[in-house]
Amino acid sequence: MPQICDLKIVNGAILTIDNQNSIIDTGYICITGDAISHIGHGDHDGWHAARAIDAGGGLIMPGLVNGHTHAAMTLFRGLADDLPLMDWLNHYIFPAESQMDADFVYTGSLLACAEMILGGTTTFCDMYLFENEVARAAHEAGMRCVVGEVLYDFPSPNYGPPDKGLAYTQRLIDAWRDDPLVSIAVEPHSLYTCSPELLKQADQLARSNQVPLILHVAETLAEIDQIRQVYGKLPVAHMEALGILGAHVIADHCIHVTPAEIDRMAHFDVKVVINPESNMKLASGAAPLTLLQQRGLTIGLGTDGCASNNNLDMFAEMDSAAKLHKLHTMDPTAMNARACIRCATIDCARALGLDHLIGSLEIGKKADIIIVDTQQPHLTPLYSPYSQLVYAASGADVSHSIVNGRVLMENRQLTTLNVRQIMDRANQKAGQVRQWIAAAALKK
Ligand SMILES: [Zn+2]
Repeated sequence: MPQICDLKIVNGAILTIDNQNSIIDTGYICITGDAISHIGHGDHDGWHAARAIDAGGGLIMPGLVNGHTHAAMTLFRGLADDLPLMDWLNHYIFPAESQMDADFVYTGSLLACAEMILGGTTTFCDMYLFENEVARAAHEAGMRCVVGEVLYDFPSPNYGPPDKGLAYTQRLIDAWRDDPLVSIAVEPHSLYTCSPELLKQADQLARSNQVPLILHVAETLAEIDQIRQVYGKLPVAHMEALGILGAHVIADHCIHVTPAEIDRMAHFDVKVVINPESNMKLASGAAPLTLLQQRGLTIGLGTDGCASNNNLDMFAEMDSAAKLHKLHTMDPTAMNARACIRCATIDCARALGLDHLIGSLEIGKKADIIIVDTQQPHLTPLYSPYSQLVYAASGADVSHSIVNGRVLMENRQLTTLNVRQIMDRANQKAGQVRQWIAAAALKK
């Protein structure tokens, strides 16, 4: 008697990224509803599916998890590069962001979702303005996400005065509470843009709603100086003094953290998301990855926004993560390919608090799955799937993407988004951006 499922993926090597890093050389995966119902070796004849996808001898793996981005910044991609940080922020990014509205963020987020699905990312974690629009775009795309409105001590073009930001976040939490794909986090921007009072209130909000607290931590040396001058402490000690360290905290970047700070982060089980390409491009530095790993911290990988990367390709990010940390430590064994893949899948899911749902291919987990087409010259021959994925593949090699059992991309065609239309809208928004920058330059 054959068993029945909704969708089966057949004829591929399966990288499960489970605890044993099990690999099935030729296997199949059955999906029932939104979840993985069976994973098998070789022949799939025992299972009848309403629909089948032939992986064509490629690699079947968990969808990639982008642990930190600012999705709508796709609309600032390449706007101004190769500049000193403050010049870049004050003359380009801030003038443009001060003019943004909901439709701008929605359009930029749709563009980001299209790019992410095409690149094998199935979940992303976002921090920006007008986050309800980011959630709406992800919902339309069918992607999984954790999003949160950026909070800081100055007025926001979205919610107005700073004290309204927490109320807006609570509304987001309530509005998306039962959504199967969208979840909300509380996201104060950083220690240098948020007062101790705002940070404590944000933490309270996160704890009372049992959602993550996400912020940029120790990204630049200028930040370390500033926090030390104002509070007389290093960033992590400042956080500990405020009582906001905890397992629900996701600290993005963590470049300039000392061994003693890393010990405290490990003690509180703080989660870390590294962003190597952004850190290289803005010359911020390299996170002390080896030490973070040795202390057993959960480390996820993110691209950061498109103004500082300039793409959302997690394959490129894995490649950069490996190479940056090898160079930084002068040790070719640092950040090996398998660790990179885990950082972009199960470990990143754990950082976001989603590892019970996604991040590996196991029976009962949600069906967030991608297929990488390895039948190409630059991926031949194939000795190690991990090496191939990290050092030779790119997002463009992903042929299929499935999120929560729904096929979002088939043979590189998106099923939920109209890419042509989204690119046209993005180009219109770029026209606005050019006008905003020109007007800001005239005011100088
Ligand atoms: Zn960021």
